[in-house]
Amino acid sequence: MNDKETLLKDIEKLHKRIDELEESERKCKKANAGLTYSEACYRRFFESTTDGILILDAETESIIDGNPYLTKMLGYTPGEFLGKKLWELGAFKDIEEIKTAHAELLREGHIHYEHIPLETKDGRVISAEFVGNVYSAGDRKLVQFSIRDITRRKEAEEALRKSEERYRIIAENARDAIITIDEEGRIMLANPATERIFGYTGAELYDQPLTMLLPGLLESEKKQVVNGNRHLPLGVIEIPGLHRDGHEIPLEISCGEFMKEEKRFFIGIIRDITQRKKAEETIKYQAFHDLLTGLPNRAQLMLRFELESAQAERNNKKIAVLYIDLDRFKVINDSLGHAVGDKVLLAVADRLRASIGKNDALARIGSEEFVILLLDINRAEDAVLFARKLVDIMRKTFRIDAHELYVTASIGISMYPEDSMDAEVLLKNAHAAVSYVKERGRDTYQFFNRAINTRTIERLLLESSLRQTIERGELELHFQPQVDIRTGAVLSYEALVRWNHPELGLLLPSEFIHIAEEIGFITAIDEWVLRAACAQNKAWQDAGYSPLCVAVNISAQQFQEPALVETVTGIVHEAGLDPRFLDIEITEGAAMRDIDTAIRHLRGLHQMGINLSIDDFGTGYSSLNYLKQFPVQKLKIDQSFIRGLVTDADDRTIVNAVIALGHSLKIRVLAEGVETDEQLTFLKENACDEMQGFLFSRPLPAEEFNQLVFSGR
Ligand code: C2E
Ligand code: MG
Ligand code: MG
Repeated sequence: MNDKETLLKDIEKLHKRIDELEESERKCKKANAGLTYSEACYRRFFESTTDGILILDAETESIIDGNPYLTKMLGYTPGEFLGKKLWELGAFKDIEEIKTAHAELLREGHIHYEHIPLETKDGRVISAEFVGNVYSAGDRKLVQFSIRDITRRKEAEEALRKSEERYRIIAENARDAIITIDEEGRIMLANPATERIFGYTGAELYDQPLTMLLPGLLESEKKQVVNGNRHLPLGVIEIPGLHRDGHEIPLEISCGEFMKEEKRFFIGIIRDITQRKKAEETIKYQAFHDLLTGLPNRAQLMLRFELESAQAERNNKKIAVLYIDLDRFKVINDSLGHAVGDKVLLAVADRLRASIGKNDALARIGSEEFVILLLDINRAEDAVLFARKLVDIMRKTFRIDAHELYVTASIGISMYPEDSMDAEVLLKNAHAAVSYVKERGRDTYQFFNRAINTRTIERLLLESSLRQTIERGELELHFQPQVDIRTGAVLSYEALVRWNHPELGLLLPSEFIHIAEEIGFITAIDEWVLRAACAQNKAWQDAGYSPLCVAVNISAQQFQEPALVETVTGIVHEAGLDPRFLDIEITEGAAMRDIDTAIRHLRGLHQMGINLSIDDFGTGYSSLNYLKQFPVQKLKIDQSFIRGLVTDADDRTIVNAVIALGHSLKIRVLAEGVETDEQLTFLKENACDEMQGFLFSRPLPAEEFNQLVFSGR
C-alpha cells in the first residue's frame, strides 16, 4: 500500500467513525432524554477520559456501551462490540482468565487486575490495568470496566528491572568500591569490593557515615551541605581513604546521584589507586635519579642549579661546577666486567657523597661522569681547595671483591657567574676543562677559564706561603728618595716593601698586599716594615751619614688598631731612633674612614714627635674641615694627577689647588710619581715643595740606595 492509499483508507475510517458517533449520539439522545445534571457530568467524563470504559449489563453479560477512548485504544468500533459479551470481543488473549475475572466481579462487586494483556484490532499487544465495579442503575445491575493502557509503564518498569539487574551484576563484580549513600551521607549499600579496599563488610558499613571511610570529605562536606546537600564531590577527585586497620589508602572518587521513590541518593565509585601512585612515584623517581647510585641525575641537577643560582645572585655568592670524569674506569669495566664496574661506581658515589658539604649538590650525569655544584662559595679559590682534596680522595685505592683498584679523577671547573649564568653552558665549559685535563695527563683539575686558573692557583700559592714570609726572611725593603724640588737635595726616603719569593722572584706590593689584608696578615707585615725601616735608618745614622727621615706606610687596618700609638713608639724606641726621623704615611682613605680614631692616633703620634703624611692625596674624599684638625706635615699628591700634568688641564688645576691648600694650612706638598722633566718644571714653577719618582730614582735596595744617596755624595 502506498501513502496515498493509506491516506484514503484513513479518511474512509474517519467518515465511518463520524457516522458511528452520530448514530450513537442519536441513540444516546433518545435513551437519555431527560438526563439529570450528574448524568451529564458522567457523560462528559465518559467521553473525554483517557481510560477505556465498557459498560455491561450484569444480567445478560453483554456490552451496552463503550467510550470513544476505548475505540482509540483497541481499534474496535462501537458497532463491533455493542451487544457482545466481553470475551467475544477478540481482544482477550486468555478468554478463561477474563471469564474468571468477570465471575469474580459479579461475586465480589469489585475487581482490580494489575495487568491483563490485550490484543488490539490491528494485532498489537498492549498491557492493560483492569478495574471493574458492579453498580445499580434503577432496577438494572450494571458492570463498568475501566481499562487503562499501561504498556509504556510496564516497559519502563521492565527496563528498570533489567538495568537494576545489570547494575547489581556490575556492582558485585566491580574492582572499585561502589557505595550508595542517602541524603544524610549514611551508607545504604556497599559492594563486595568495598571490603577489599576498606576492610569493612557491607553489613558493618550499613547506616555508618561515609566520612568514616573518607575522613577527608569532612572539610568539604560543610561546603557541600550549603551547595545543595551533596555528600560526594562533583567530578573525579583524588582523596585519601582510611582502612579499617588505620592505614591511609590513596583513592580516586567519582560520583553520581539518582532518585528512588522520591528520595535522593548518591553513588560513589571509589578506586584504590595505590598501584598507580606507586608507579607514578617510581616514574618520578626515575625521571630525576640515576638508578645505579640513587644520586640525582642531570635533569635534577639542572633544576637544582636554577634554584641555587637565583639564590647565589641574591646573596652575591658564586657557584663552582665541578665536572668529574673517572680516569681508568673503562679499563676496569672492560677487563673485570660490568658487575665490578657498577660496584666501583657505587664506591665512587659514596666517596663523593662523603666529600661534599651538606648544601652542595652531587649528580651522576654519565656512565663515569659526576658533577658537583659547590654552592655558596665566595671565590674560585674555594673550588681549587675542594678539587685538590677530591683528587686526593680519589687517589686512594678501591677494594672491590678481591681487587685492589686504582681509579683517579680528572676535574674540570667552571664558575658561576664568571663563565656563564646558564647551567648548560657551565656544564659544557666544565666538560671542556676536563678534556683539557685528560689531554695533559689526567688526575688533576683545571678551570675552564685560563685567567681564573692562573689567578687562583697563584693566589693560593701566595696565600699559603705569605704567612711564612717573615719567619723565612723573604720580605725586604726598597727605599725611594724624597727630594727638595728647589735644591734637589734628598730630604727623606720612603721604605717600600717587597716579597722576595723563592720561585716567583721579587713581588711588588700590588701582588700581595691585598691578600695580606684579606687574610689578616697585613698588620704583621706593617710592623715588620716599621721595625726594619727604623733599624735601617738608625744603622745609616750610626754609620755616620747625615740623618734623614724614613717614611713608612701604614695600612688602613693597622691604623685602626687601638694600640697603634704604643706599638709605633715601642718600635721606634726599640730601634733607638729619634722619632723626628720617622714619617708615618697614611692614605687619605684610611684617615677619613673613622675621623675620631684618625684624630686621636695622629695627635698621639704627633706628640711623640713623629712626622705625619697623607698619602695618595686627591683620591679619597677629604673633608677640608678635618684636614685642618690633622697635625700632618705633608700632603703627597697621588701619582695619577702627576701623570696627567702635561696633557690634562684638569690635573694641572687640581695639582695647583692642592699646593695652594697645603701651603695655606702650612703643610708641605710632595708630588708622587714624577717621571719627566716637564712634570718637574711645572711643579717647580708652581712652588711644589718635594718630589718622589723615577726621574730622580726608582725605589732601590738598601745597598744601592746607600750608594746613590750617602756614599756616592
Ligand atoms: P705608595 O705609598 O704611594 O708608594 C709609592 C708607589 O709609587 C711605590 O710603588 C713606588 O714604587 C711607586 N713609584 C714611585 N715613583 C714612581 C714613578 O715615577 N712612576 C711610577 N709609575 N711609580 C712610582 P710600590 O712600591 O709598588 O708600592 C705600591 C703601594 O703599596 C704603595 O703606594 C703603598 O700604598 C703600598 N705599600 C708599599 N709598601 C708598603 C708597606 O710596607 N706597608 C703597607 N701597608 N703598604 C705598603
Ligand atoms: Mg706611601
Ligand atoms: Mg702614594
